[in-house]
Amino acid sequence: MAHDVIVLGLGGMGSAVACHLAERGARVVGLERFGPAHDQGSSHGRSRIIRLAYFEHPDYVPLLVRAYELFEKLEADTGARVLTLTGGLMAGRERSAVVSGSIASAREHDLPHEVLGSADIRQRFPAFDPGEGVVGLYEDSAGFLVPEDTVGAHLRRAAATGADLRFEEPALAWSAHASGDGVTVTTARGTYEASRLVVTAGSWAPVVLEELGLPLVVERQVMYWIDPIGGVEPFLPDRFPIYIYELPDGVQFYGFPAQDGPPGGIKVAFFRHNSVVCTPETIDRTVHQREIDEMREFGSRGIPALAGECIEAKTCMYTSTPDEHFVIALQPDRPQVALAAGFSGHGFKFTSVVGEILADLALDGKTSHPIGLFAPDRFAP
Ligand SMILES: Cc1cc2nc3c(=O)[nH]c(=O)nc-3n(C[C@H](O)[C@H](O)[C@H](O)COP(=O)(O)OP(=O)(O)OC[C@H]3O[C@@H](n4cnc5c(N)ncnc54)[C@H](O)[C@@H]3O)c2cc1C
Repeated sequence: MAHDVIVLGLGGMGSAVACHLAERGARVVGLERFGPAHDQGSSHGRSRIIRLAYFEHPDYVPLLVRAYELFEKLEADTGARVLTLTGGLMAGRERSAVVSGSIASAREHDLPHEVLGSADIRQRFPAFDPGEGVVGLYEDSAGFLVPEDTVGAHLRRAAATGADLRFEEPALAWSAHASGDGVTVTTARGTYEASRLVVTAGSWAPVVLEELGLPLVVERQVMYWIDPIGGVEPFLPDRFPIYIYELPDGVQFYGFPAQDGPPGGIKVAFFRHNSVVCTPETIDRTVHQREIDEMREFGSRGIPALAGECIEAKTCMYTSTPDEHFVIALQPDRPQVALAAGFSGHGFKFTSVVGEILADLALDGKTSHPIGLFAPDRFAP
């Protein structure tokens, strides 16, 4: 067989898988529908939060510890800068999911953190105007990744270590032999054979993995860049953290420092609020004025300067599961196929470790990383 592994989809996850596989000496071919680090899927928009005190579930923490190590290794191997640590503030009412979950994760895993009251938050980070009763978990180790640079670095490293990466070449069909070894993938340009297949198709997974019947829903999301009232100085990365802010009604929004310096805007977005179900073909890529107004209105309840003018807005897609946990597994009846899907709007910070896990699954049939939370059979009726 010409290749050991075919990687279908070279976005956030697939670029990392191709890198890990090639570094281990596997003969890899990667197939990507668009160009390198494109903006048509889920891995664009110049920033992605990374944090350790994980309110979604404490089981993510060991994976995050490894993810940080691997991003640092990627920087050392490629000379690229992908990760910036700014500290992170998870703020809301004490009982909010963001605050209570982050504190539970930090305690369970003994993570260094501080719990700040609203007066402390205002004093440390004057851009915030938290209401009475707002508290925040602050951790030093949080920050942001630049997704385009991370994908680019994984792709360059994959190519430098021997992967054959093919862009503008969508896979049209794939099949896995019933023997448990061997796969065939057809594209518009040809047919590829390999012993293993890794499917990392992002928002195309509901189609590419249709026969598995995974409960995946693709959702349109919007990222906004605001010119903050009063200027960007209070938002520069040396004095302003990444944050997630939960309002009393449960609406969550999150944002970043002014990473591009003056005069660039600061990025803010809702976390799973006003999601519109779509497909990569039907998504409305236009951002409407009423959406911009709503973002400025909600955002300014925690950070008054976010009432400023919106200078840019862009859409992106989440691919969500019912419990918002990932799907990472071998296909039960076709163990030569490894798949990763349903990152539910919080996957980018895991790309490096997911690359390692999928390389383990494809080459060894197992991984020592804890991935029980991500088993697809949890959806079985
Ligand atoms: C607005 C927004 C904000 C987010 N913020 C955060 C955050 O702060 N922190 C965080 O950790 N996560 C965040 N996420 C989530 C994170 O970005 C995603 O979970 C992650 O990027 C998903 O990576 P992926 O590889 O699954 O998808 P993608 O990067 O979209 O990659 C899938 C790839 O497969 C290719 N493909 C599909 N079908 C085919 C085919 N048939 N043939 C060839 N190629 C194919 C696609 O072209 C694409 O390149 C955010 C997502 C969005 C949209």
